[in-house]
Amino acid sequence: MHTLSAIEIHEKFVQGEISAVEIATHFLMRIQKIDQQVGAFLEIFEKDILYQASELDAKRVRKEPLGALAGVPIAVKDNINVTGYETTCASKILKGYISPYDATVIRRIKEEDGLIFGKLNMDEFAMGSSCEYSAFKQTKNPWDLSLVPGGSSGGAAVAIASDMVSITLGSDTGGSIRLPASFCGISAFKGTYGRVSRNGLVALGSSLDQIGPLAHSCEDLERMMEVIGVHCEKDSTSISGANFTPVKFEERYKNGFTVGVPWQFLEGLQEDSRAIFDRFIDHLKTLGGKVVEVDLSILNYAIAVYYIIGTAEFSTNLSRYDGIRYGLRSERAATLDDVYDFSREDGFGDEPKRRILLGTFVLSSGYQEAYFKKAQKVRQIIINKFADAFSKCDFVALPVSTGGAFPFGQVKDPLQMYLEDIYTVGANLAGVPAMSLPAGNLPDGRPVGVQLMARQRQDAELMSVGKAFQKLTSYHTARPKIAREGT
Ligand code: GLN
Repeated sequence: MHTLSAIEIHEKFVQGEISAVEIATHFLMRIQKIDQQVGAFLEIFEKDILYQASELDAKRVRKEPLGALAGVPIAVKDNINVTGYETTCASKILKGYISPYDATVIRRIKEEDGLIFGKLNMDEFAMGSSCEYSAFKQTKNPWDLSLVPGGSSGGAAVAIASDMVSITLGSDTGGSIRLPASFCGISAFKGTYGRVSRNGLVALGSSLDQIGPLAHSCEDLERMMEVIGVHCEKDSTSISGANFTPVKFEERYKNGFTVGVPWQFLEGLQEDSRAIFDRFIDHLKTLGGKVVEVDLSILNYAIAVYYIIGTAEFSTNLSRYDGIRYGLRSERAATLDDVYDFSREDGFGDEPKRRILLGTFVLSSGYQEAYFKKAQKVRQIIINKFADAFSKCDFVALPVSTGGAFPFGQVKDPLQMYLEDIYTVGANLAGVPAMSLPAGNLPDGRPVGVQLMARQRQDAELMSVGKAFQKLTSYHTARPKIAREGT
């Protein structure tokens, strides 16, 4: 059953070929077996899932209308609130915090009868590129257990790559769904800023964050985007007007399309990854793509800008963890000041602390002009350069990262870890939609993805190209050995 796509499982359920209880039992057994090896889940909703599945079966028997995700096995990153369950962001400071409400994306999944199996591991507060910064456990890359899965949505990528569920949700502030998708050989989609509601997502960088789906195929991503890519009153930055509505590639691009490639920005790319990228461009040509050169050399400053604007927002957002309102309260504390100091000292890991310090520094009076305000100006230039590029082309193609997944412990220098996102942060700074598609394996077997971006609000157009690419090729059907195990 796990070899079927989300849409196929849904259709079989709707047609009465399989029951929701069968689906739930099958995937629960797989999770119990495989997750011991890869460690993607922080919590499995064991008790609820069978009850929910039997309710869904009863609904089908009563012949009530079934939702667009009916029967689809889903899991979500642990920074997305699900009523009645812990939301920890893989941080000790939130241990014990039970969410009193559903994020809008969760409400939408429930309305469309999706089955939510549990919460997935991540870098603490979504800060990181390897998933090694979780306070709780190590998540391993199913292609090679000695490699990192990528981050910060590492659990969300691994749960798909090892076929433990069919669609997951992650969050992407600077590349956190696209990078692990690339390292694990799966597809992922980050919409235009504001396309998916951030209500109920634990905020990291409020001007950058987007929730997005991960799955094997763009068809499954598209189904999820139809469900969650809708206007939400509870998020003031939610796009109003048209919701995400699929576009037919054959109709929309029957006269071809143009792809911009910033060739001079690709110099840092490792040779084998470059070969995969070049082959991707050839495939796009086969689909009718005309390749033009665009100038995005401004992106050489993207990491610097991201870590100034980002840390300013991160430190602001993390100030709410005071030992009083959520989760952990230090037992060493004797006074009110102690409660703040010790709870934050004991609760946050090294990376959040590093970013709180950096963010507080760039926002402090005297440095605000020099760093934060300057970074905002450069962000505007990045937005303008993307607009220039999109005046010449429909889509921009980029790699996702300079190479494939690396071994645990290899990247020790935080700055080097930050550089992993060199190709992804631009889309967050400019607020444009971007997706990561599996595009082959390096000679040693590690998967590598490629990236495609579009103008703001052209989410469905972007998805249509991903679907066309996956009709033409079969990279997205590759599975690691672990996924082929089990019944
Ligand atoms: N790796 C980037 C960071 O550490 C991006 C994280 C994200 O997208 N959540 O901030």
